[in-house]
Amino acid sequence: MLFGYPVSATEENWLHNCLCEILHSIHASVKTATTLPAWPEIVPEPYRPRLHRRTGLKDRLNTYRTVLENLTIEEQERILQSLHDQNQIALLLSCQCNCDAITDLPQPIREPVKELFKFAFDLLTDMEIRDRHYKVIYDAVPSHTCPFCGCENFDAPRVPREALDHYLAESKYPFAASNLRNLVPMGNKCNSRYKLAQDILFSDDGTRRKSFDPYNCTGIRLSLENSQPFAGTLTTTGQVPKWQIEFAPTSEEILTWDKVFRIRERYEKDVLDPAFKSWLDDFKLWCKSAKIAPSSDQELVDGLNSYATLYEEMGISDRAFLKAAVFRMLHTHCQQGDQRLISLIMSIVNPGQTNLPQTP
Ligand SMILES: [Zn+2]
Repeated sequence: MLFGYPVSATEENWLHNCLCEILHSIHASVKTATTLPAWPEIVPEPYRPRLHRRTGLKDRLNTYRTVLENLTIEEQERILQSLHDQNQIALLLSCQCNCDAITDLPQPIREPVKELFKFAFDLLTDMEIRDRHYKVIYDAVPSHTCPFCGCENFDAPRVPREALDHYLAESKYPFAASNLRNLVPMGNKCNSRYKLAQDILFSDDGTRRKSFDPYNCTGIRLSLENSQPFAGTLTTTGQVPKWQIEFAPTSEEILTWDKVFRIRERYEKDVLDPAFKSWLDDFKLWCKSAKIAPSSDQELVDGLNSYATLYEEMGISDRAFLKAAVFRMLHTHCQQGDQRLISLIMSIVNPGQTNLPQTP
């Protein structure tokens, strides 16, 4: 992903922590056959005033406990271990630990776990935790842009809300479904068209894989330097370069990200191919407004350099990082003396002029 979220956004994780604490109490009481305090005393005291009216939580905890009582000690322990492991988000994403999926656990407990954590996830909205979490992220992210694609804009905090993705899918890892550390605001296209319920921890062939940690990600650089002008497809607006989209530093996380969100395909088909011609026209307008009329190769190279630098300084906003990469690539190729490319850009910048002077 292009940049990360501040981990401080996940600080208000008390609801999830409280739920885990209650489940530990339930497991301990079932294991030792001791009596648990009744609702709401089962809720740790600091959280009780905020939760005592949430009887939906009480009902789901009772169901969980009833099912648990009918399982063996070994099964109970495996479930408790799974509660712990599924919430080791950072370690799971970096492949430093593994966890059972819900389908690895005894069948009777699966639905009660899903129901319980789905209810807790919905409580995040009811209790406005989700909105506060989003506001911290919205205020911190550059240009209010989805970091998974860099192309979708985030709306200001309000209803209707942006999508909140269960990074580890709730269908497989429901114990993490109310953990803010596993919940990431995501643009609607990234969420609904690309990621869906894909398992970020495993590829389609079942291989374990590393993924970016949205709350501990320092960002990456994109380069189009190795693209080939005039070697791409012929679109309705003319010939486009054969795009070579590269990210640095290279990592397994980038492979997963590209696979899950189909990043290279989306950049090529949705941005670079359709925008290339209009971006060259933008360059022409910029030259005009800056009163730059390149009459030599070097003047054109200098103009491209200034234009690329301008967009590099704009960062992520309005897909500027992609436009910057395109013009940096054009600058490099022209600087290396690609006469066909120089002639093309000259003819756009100086329409109607022929026999343009060349650098001796
Ligand atoms: Zn997106």
